Amino acid sequence: MTAVWTGVVVCSIVAVFYLAACRAPAPDPDSPAAFAAARTALLEELRADGIGDVRVLGAIAKVPRHEFVLPQDRDRAYANHALPIPGGQTISQPYIVALMTQLLELRGDERVLEVGTGSGYQAAVLAELAREVYSIELDPGLAESARQRLARLGYGRVQVRAGDGYFGWEEAAPFDAIIITATAPRIPERLVAQLKPGAPLVMPLSEGFSETLIRARQVDGDLKIERIADVAFVPMRGAIRGGGDREDR
Ligand code: SAH
Repeated sequence: MTAVWTGVVVCSIVAVFYLAACRAPAPDPDSPAAFAAARTALLEELRADGIGDVRVLGAIAKVPRHEFVLPQDRDRAYANHALPIPGGQTISQPYIVALMTQLLELRGDERVLEVGTGSGYQAAVLAELAREVYSIELDPGLAESARQRLARLGYGRVQVRAGDGYFGWEEAAPFDAIIITATAPRIPERLVAQLKPGAPLVMPLSEGFSETLIRARQVDGDLKIERIADVAFVPMRGAIRGGGDREDR
């Protein structure tokens, strides 16, 4: 009888240790599997919110947004929110990145200019979809860290320049598309002049107390403007605030 009880006790102890060993570990929010799951959920959300361009969704699926956010925000990198980056700036909400990218209608062989490199995330998304990407950042510190980050992640062919994007990138013009990721009080005429005829300029434009995402194209000498959505971006700084060209619209 004692032997039976000893057996039961031993088996119970073994079972307890076995179950403890087999218990699933708490999911690590900073693991590749957690990032992949969060990214899949984000893609579902973007699809449900009307992002239908499969190439854009593919680019969002590929670019590791957790590498572009602050270390303490990595576990929120695939939530559909804007997040802070150094210098008081923000990395845009994934939905807005997807929407703006979709509006550029990239097919793969374009030369694109971005104004407002920030973390470099939008530039990486563009690099997945276009042949050449040029990106200008006003803050030299942000420009340098974005350049290094993009190179480390395999996007070294994105050209990053520190400077005022208001003046565009004359040597690389004309562009097939331009995107500005900071709100401007006017459409910078110099950037319109660096676009191929009919090519889109997508940007947030401040209008009174609101900001509107617009797409502008030069058609038969006229600038056709589509109003897309209400948005909230950090302000474009630099020469555009000082009056700029008189021809700005
Ligand atoms: N596209 C970025 C986020 C942009 S936040 C990303 O994916 O992370 C807007 C950025 O525009 C900021 O980094 C800000 O410094 C920059 N910026 C503001 N005015 C600018 C100007 N005149 N020229 C170039 N960059 C500008």
